[in-house]
Amino acid sequence: MSDITLEKFENEVYLDFNDPTIDAAQKKAIEEARAGFGKEHDMYINGEWVKGESGTFESINPSNTNEVIGSFQLASTEQALSALDAAWEAFETWQYTPAKERAEYLLKAADVVKRRRMEINAWMVSEAGKNYLEADADTAEGIDFLIYYAYEAMRLDAGMQVKDSWGDANKTIYMPLGAGVSISPWNFPFAITLGMAAAPIVAGNTVVAKPSPDTPKLGHVIAEIFEEVGLPKGVFNFVTGENIEVGEALTTSPKTRFISFTGSKAVGLHMAEIAGKVVEGQHFLKRLVCELGGKNATVVDADADIDLAADEIVKGAFGFQGQKCSAGSRTIVVESVYDELLEKVVEKTKVLKVGDAKDNYPNGPVVNQKAVDKIMSYIEIGKKEGRLMAGGKMADTENPGYYIEPTVFADVAEDARIAQEEIFGPVTAFIKAKDTDDALRIANSTQYGLTGAYFSRDPKKIERALREYKVGNLYINRKCTGALVGAQPFGGFNMSGTDAKAGGRDYLLYFLQPKSMTLRPHKDVDMSLPEFSYTK
Ligand code: NAD
Repeated sequence: MSDITLEKFENEVYLDFNDPTIDAAQKKAIEEARAGFGKEHDMYINGEWVKGESGTFESINPSNTNEVIGSFQLASTEQALSALDAAWEAFETWQYTPAKERAEYLLKAADVVKRRRMEINAWMVSEAGKNYLEADADTAEGIDFLIYYAYEAMRLDAGMQVKDSWGDANKTIYMPLGAGVSISPWNFPFAITLGMAAAPIVAGNTVVAKPSPDTPKLGHVIAEIFEEVGLPKGVFNFVTGENIEVGEALTTSPKTRFISFTGSKAVGLHMAEIAGKVVEGQHFLKRLVCELGGKNATVVDADADIDLAADEIVKGAFGFQGQKCSAGSRTIVVESVYDELLEKVVEKTKVLKVGDAKDNYPNGPVVNQKAVDKIMSYIEIGKKEGRLMAGGKMADTENPGYYIEPTVFADVAEDARIAQEEIFGPVTAFIKAKDTDDALRIANSTQYGLTGAYFSRDPKKIERALREYKVGNLYINRKCTGALVGAQPFGGFNMSGTDAKAGGRDYLLYFLQPKSMTLRPHKDVDMSLPEFSYTK
């Protein structure tokens, strides 16, 4: 392992589901997962599988709401806090475990994910309503996170480069923070939940993970993986339950050293308040990592390749039903090419087929009834704010499920609600711009700043967009979704969050605190500081 360096890191390649053998294998894995529907799954606290003291809840298949994926535990406040206590106990030894050893657990976990890949995809198809490729991209990203963060932990173990000063020997090391809470969303139920746990853990911290109640099965799979690789008890804890009872009990606890949150702006701002309020018994500032929503735009300039732009807009807006924080929910087009592009996008949108994720339709269901209500209410708003060009209603399907037609609105004002607020569903709003200036100004006019795409064939304009388009992840001449670990570190500006850049070289630093040490030589002490490491 130690001869592998970060420079050799390669992203996991997605499976090719056009290959009939791979497609058949995925279908078989889905049938096997379906045969396991309806079982009860426990939480994982301090290395034990435990029942919830507040009962259970069900996870439902969004493609067919008659089907129950499984039942999951409702933790009591006491149980959630006991997980935090277990995490602190485990921290006592985990913090001193050598980085290489910690990294090895992650690399082993990556091997387990590779082995269980089809099965993990199958659970994502079933519980989140992803099509095969979207599910596989999520699983592949999980593998990437594990390997990338493993290498990063080893790199950071060398500490920060400092110089000796006037006879003093100096060293600055990175040490972990302690026990913290990771709260993840349902839309990348595997990669994000896994990455948000693996990064702090490999940096020497311990974690209580509370995944979304919409996708608890994937959290359960992650707990199984960490158990299989023999991660010491208490280092990773998996807790499920009510947001207020469990989520807030954990985040408000004086013992929570860090809160790592990925989710909506509304809950994220609440987390920021919780993190900022010192409670009795608290001896530190809570470190907050908060990755939130977006109102991402694709800007198409007058000299763009219109066919390419149309293809990429449809992928960016409607991939996984637009339920990506990076989804392109605004399409800002310079007026000379507006009509041509609109026509092409509408044509491509109208042919998208919507149906059961297990049958690998390009578009599956949205996640739950709450999402349906929210998206449909924005579609009603859109009908007043713009011209409905495609979609606009629930899709007709065989199953009872949460299916919404991919929807395009034209002639939307830049300050309309559907041009400013995150809808988080299959809806994109076309906005007309006069020229490049106007288009970039509109693109930068929301309170978010997560991703953006820009289409042009003019190097000067591209250079300008690279400079002036204010988003955390900017893509030229391609869609605005699909960041790769190690290649496109991910995170956004402004109300899109702390821009911690998951999958980037700075990410682990959010879970570390540097300690600067100076040793002045003394004639009676025979030691040299530079050999000192926190974990040895
Ligand atoms: P959400 O904010 O509703 O929930 C996120 C998590 O917070 C879930 O686990 C939920 O159970 C928990 N939660 C909710 N209320 C809580 C409370 N009071 N205390 C503690 N925990 C609480 O978001 P969601 O619907 O799960 O996910 C979709 C959102 O996430 C979108 O806004 C999307 O843009 C965003 N997102 C952002 C990124 C990113 O990297 N920036 C990535 C994925 C998703």
